[in-house]
Amino acid sequence: MSIKIDDKNFYDHVDQELKDTFMRNAISNAQDNLRGKKIAATTEDEPFGNWEEWRNAGEEIRRHTLENLDYYLQQLSENIAERGGHVFFAATAEEANQYIKEVVEQKNARNVVKTKSMVTEEISLNEMLEDMGCDILETDLGEYILQIDDDRPSHFVAPSLHKNKEQIRDTYREKIAYDGTEKPEELTVYTRKVLREKFLQADVGITGCNFAVADSGTVTLVTNEGNANMVTTLPDTQISVMGMERVVPSWEDLDVLVSLLCRSAVGQHLSTYVTAVSPDVESDTVDAPSDFHLVILDGGRSRALGTEFQEALHCIRCAACVNVCPVYRHIGGHAYGSIYQGPIGAVLSPILAGYEEYQELPFASSLCGACTEACPVKIPLHELLIRHRERIVAGEGKTKASEKLMMKGFGNMTSSASVFQTAVKAAPTLTRPFAKDGSISKGPGPLKAWTNKRDFPAPSKDNFRQWFADHKRGGDINE
Ligand code: SF4
Repeated sequence: MSIKIDDKNFYDHVDQELKDTFMRNAISNAQDNLRGKKIAATTEDEPFGNWEEWRNAGEEIRRHTLENLDYYLQQLSENIAERGGHVFFAATAEEANQYIKEVVEQKNARNVVKTKSMVTEEISLNEMLEDMGCDILETDLGEYILQIDDDRPSHFVAPSLHKNKEQIRDTYREKIAYDGTEKPEELTVYTRKVLREKFLQADVGITGCNFAVADSGTVTLVTNEGNANMVTTLPDTQISVMGMERVVPSWEDLDVLVSLLCRSAVGQHLSTYVTAVSPDVESDTVDAPSDFHLVILDGGRSRALGTEFQEALHCIRCAACVNVCPVYRHIGGHAYGSIYQGPIGAVLSPILAGYEEYQELPFASSLCGACTEACPVKIPLHELLIRHRERIVAGEGKTKASEKLMMKGFGNMTSSASVFQTAVKAAPTLTRPFAKDGSISKGPGPLKAWTNKRDFPAPSKDNFRQWFADHKRGGDINE
């Protein structure tokens, strides 16, 4: 079980994704579109009030909750148990899957319907259920497209962002006997027909959890398609899976976080549906599952608790950081090799799966800070990326000895003004044989790894210190 999407390494992914012109155009359009909507919803929304004050409130709620996580998880599980539900705390993905497997076996279930859920991707739940012989169906449109095409999400909120309508039409024709056009309306009508039949046959419904409200014992799901309502009302058995950080103390806190989530994710005031489900065995209501299970996954999260990375667990998965990231814009979601992409993916993946697997990701950032500025709960993403880098270079990752030596040399050079000045003066002459039109595209030695992927700006003979000295004297830099 792993958050890894396949066995390729980061650089192979990047090479492959950089050649995918469609994907890169799709991402830049989607980023512009989603970011534009978010800006409109957070600056022009008079009734909402001051966006920065809402961010402060969101940050405060997340900080308070994570600092008292044991209390709120206990309260959540007691309230669910009191209402007739079952709660299972899973330390690992294997434990979570084993529990879900036992529930499905007890029900003799064959047909399972599911909502979109990052945490079930994280534990590879579909693979486990398929191995059991279950027919499992993703009911979110984007996830359904990926499921039938045997593909993985490339974005938290828009999982099939990397596919165009012609590709989807071809997949439908090949995999599910579709004979219509590539028009989104036609594709959607066809999908709805397939899903409706499956909803009626379902024995078990599986959902993720956007937020679980501790003081009432409620799982909430924020969606735009209505599929979560079907998954939680038609089958008699419901299993919800949540990362242990997804708890909120109260409905008032939920109000703040859902408001931040919807605006940050897609620029909506509120999503079309906010589905809230509690076990309610006593009152025997027709639309509550008669058998309710909540699986709360640690999965490596507790490694961040009480450390400098705890704030990464404040994340509400809105993807606002992904939508502004210049690196994601060029390499796309699959290049991260993790189900968690973009800046938060680069922070979270090494925490959950270790530096052995993900030590390149903290370096896949320009440290421009756009992600930190975009984050509705004020996670200092670029600072957490630097902390990862420090740890990796200090020895927790597999940094090569030559790289460490080079960084040490660079450190020594930049900490001595005279050595630095000499190096700056010598650089244009030393690199001249490799430079063309102001850049180096085939660098020597350590520069090679860089220039294999992109050009390196050739050192200029006009350096800042010289410019400043000339300017101060009233000289003209262009002379
Ligand atoms: S880190 Fe912040 S901006 Fe990124 S997905 Fe999480 S909450 Fe949203």
